[in-house]
Amino acid sequence: MSHRSCVFCGRPDVQITNEHAWPNWIRNLFPPGPITIRGHRQPTHPLGAVKYVKHDDMGLTVNTICTSCNGGWMNDLEGAVAPLLTSPIRNGAPTVFTRDQQRVVATWCLKTMMVFEFTGEDAPFYSFKERNELRTNSEPPTTLTLVWLAALRRLLHLQRFWHSGRV
Ligand SMILES: [Zn+2]
Repeated sequence: MSHRSCVFCGRPDVQITNEHAWPNWIRNLFPPGPITIRGHRQPTHPLGAVKYVKHDDMGLTVNTICTSCNGGWMNDLEGAVAPLLTSPIRNGAPTVFTRDQQRVVATWCLKTMMVFEFTGEDAPFYSFKERNELRTNSEPPTTLTLVWLAALRRLLHLQRFWHSGRV
């Protein structure tokens, strides 16, 4: 536990605890043992193509989010998205999302990507303003961000994130 500014709400001197980057509901969908989930950016991305390649990243933790964010809006977002994504992740089940559900899924994807930016050494792509905007509006930032969702059936233990930044 440490005390410094939260990267999502910016509040100083808040309690920050070490938390898993992947939420528990996703970690519980995968078998125990080392799992590596690769993150990719578009090859033209200014920060390079491949990121977030860590061994056993189900165990990755971040130490940048306050307990208020973690137990508040983030927890609410996990609760909203878990019922939507559990079956597609577990079974690859064909799924149709309403516009509101798409917004929830896109917001969650962005939130998770933003969290993962703090598991590495590089400076984050998204700004504090964009993280705070996602937190307060419960939707992706107004800067251009595209979230694509697809299933990769043949890769049982590998999910991929496309991190497509601003064009
Ligand atoms: Zn916070």
